Order: sequence, then structure tokens, then C-alpha cells
Amino acid sequence: MKLTGSERSQIMTHSDIRAMTIECTKVNGINLAQGVCDLDIPPLVVNEAKKAIDEGWNTYTRFDGLPVLREAIAKKVRAYNRLEADVEKNIICSEGTTGAMFATCMALLNPGDEVIVPAPYYQYHVFTVQMCGGKPVTPKLGPPPAWKFDADAIQESITKKTKAIIINTPSNPSGKVYSLAELKALRDICVDNDLFCFTDEIYEYFVYDGLKHVSPASLEGMAERTMTISGYSKSFSITGWRVGYVHCHEKWKNTIGYVNDLINVCTPTPFQIAVAKGIEQLPESYYSGICDEYAGKRKMMLDACKDAGLHAYKPEGSYYVLADVSMVPGKTAKDKAMHILKKTGVGAVPATAFFPDSSGDAMVRFCFAKRDPVLKEACERLRKLNV
Ligand code: PLP
Repeated sequence: MKLTGSERSQIMTHSDIRAMTIECTKVNGINLAQGVCDLDIPPLVVNEAKKAIDEGWNTYTRFDGLPVLREAIAKKVRAYNRLEADVEKNIICSEGTTGAMFATCMALLNPGDEVIVPAPYYQYHVFTVQMCGGKPVTPKLGPPPAWKFDADAIQESITKKTKAIIINTPSNPSGKVYSLAELKALRDICVDNDLFCFTDEIYEYFVYDGLKHVSPASLEGMAERTMTISGYSKSFSITGWRVGYVHCHEKWKNTIGYVNDLINVCTPTPFQIAVAKGIEQLPESYYSGICDEYAGKRKMMLDACKDAGLHAYKPEGSYYVLADVSMVPGKTAKDKAMHILKKTGVGAVPATAFFPDSSGDAMVRFCFAKRDPVLKEACERLRKLNV
């Protein structure tokens, strides 16, 4: 399959999430459509960024990032993700998780390669595969609320052209946190079919109800084939700073690093320093603290959905709630999301954005990563839906 320039630009349509954001702005609504967290940045991280700029850390860095950030990330992935990590061999700092996924796909996929992206998926994963000339194949996870990893459906969708599988745990939009048993089934599929696994773990610190985040690369047989991708947009509330990374086997580091260099040159330098200091100096209680805070917001969101007459699926992780809106007027999820916006002034994403077919027609996604007063106001407004 050869992509021409114009076909590439067709893929590059505005995501549904951005489209809903535009609609929401038009009516001055509260935007629970976009996954932007507007919470406070840890003060230490802000101060270190200012200091880094003042101290002159404003020029390009090496393609894979400053040693201080690679060291901090290596230490963190060893302790939190249980992965082996060498500062020189295994870490590439990137322009956020998005840049990391793009560089990985660009580096490791050939045109025509098929990549399995279980649905519901994060749209960027699908678009990224397409932009790299690959073909996303989107078997479905089981029904909500469990969204069980369906090994049979995944296995059935594998062909000779399948090169990789993309997993997002905890997931946007479903909030699914892959269990160890599911990850073992995933591992068996990857090993039996010799597949790469690209994992997006950006919500790794947002896991509720005592569940644990497990990195697929930590399972036996997965280290060599898994690119573990994450970043600090969400954990430090710095979506605009663009700091993420790929952890991979040394075999892949230079290839991915080379593409990362071509696309981004480097991660913004002062923010590399600030994030490194944040990783090094923030205590574990910082992460458990934000997790508890978000668990509180999840409860606010779920309660409001219930009062509004919507059946919401309780997410195990991340900061999104998918809600059944079949009783809301409108034919499509977009109509229903527009009805909710017009009646209550709350923006949500039609869940068709997360499925290849009509499975998302009766669902919308709310993002609850908002400051409490804003979320409270959104919840009050949503209650007026009263379906
Ligand atoms: N991956 C997932 C699953 C997301 O939901 C988002 C943002 O909403 C991103 C990646 C973007 O991450 P970053 O800001 O690190 O590029």
C-alpha cells in the first residue's frame, strides 16, 4: 500500500474530540470532551522549569534527551514498571507520549503492515498507524464494564501481515486496566506470532480501587518486543510541555531515536530538566495523592451521570467515564452529544470516535480531569439532563 501526500492529508482530519471542543466553545460550555487536565502543576516542577530557563538550558539536547532525564526515567521504570533500564541503551525522551508513539510506529512499521488496535481505542493510535502507512485492525474488547481482552478475537484478526499490537493501559476511553491474566494472554499472542507490542501507559498512575498497573514489558518474553511509552503530561498536569519517552530493548533504540531526532530534534530542554527534578524529588505520596484526588472526581462524575439518568461504566483507571446515552434524544452518538451540550452546556465526546463501527452509537465519554469547582458546576449542569 502506497500513500500519496493527499491521502495522508485525508487521514489528518480533526479528531472528533477537537470537533466537539469547537462546538463546546461556540456555546460557552464546560468542556468535558478533551482530555486536558487543568490541575495545578507540582510547584517544584514549575520552579525547576523557570530556573532551567534562567540558567540557560535553552538549546538543543542530544536526540535521546539529557542524561539527567534519562537517568530519572531509568530509575523510575526500574522501580515502578519493573523493567531493566540502562540510561544509554534503553531510554529515548520524546515530544510527549504522542511523539513517542509516532517515532516508534515510523521506525518499526513498513507500509502495508497490519497493527492490531483493540476497540474502544484512542483515535491517535489508529491515525498514527495510518500516517505511517500501516493498516489498523480493530477487533473489539468484550462488552462493558469489563471490556475483557478477547484473546480469540485478537488471534482471529492476525494475518501474515500483522506486525504489532497497540495496548493502552489504563485505557482512554474505557478506563480499563489490563489484569495480569489478560497481559499473559497478550504475551502469548505476541510471542506465538512474533509481534511487537507498543504500549501507551500515560495513565499509569491513575489506577483506582486497589488495582495495580502492570507494564506488559515486565512479563517474561516481552522485554525484547515491547516499546513501553509514557510521559508526564497527565501525571504532572503539563500537557503543553511535551515530555514523554520510549523505553525499549537496545536493539531498537537507535532506529526509534533516529526518527525521533528527525521529527522533533529533541524534547523541550528546560522541561526535560524540570521533569527530571520532579521524578527525582516528588515522593511516592505525590502519585498516591493525585490518584486519590482523581478517584474523588470519578465519584463526582459517576454520581452526576446517575442523577442525570445516564448509565455510566465505572472506570478502573485513567480519567474518563463512558456513559450509555441510548435514552438521550438523537440518532447518532454525535446527535446525542449535541443534545447534551445544548440542554446542559456540557461537552462530551461521541463514542463513535473510539470504535470502527456503530458500537459507540449509544455512548459518550466525559473527562473528569477538571478542577473541583469546574467539575462540580459541570456535574450540576449535567443533572439537568434528566432523561
Ligand atoms: N495517549 C493517550 C491514551 C491519551 O489519552 C493522551 C491524551 O489524551 C495522550 C496519549 C497524549 O499524551 P501526550 O501529551 O504525552 O502526548
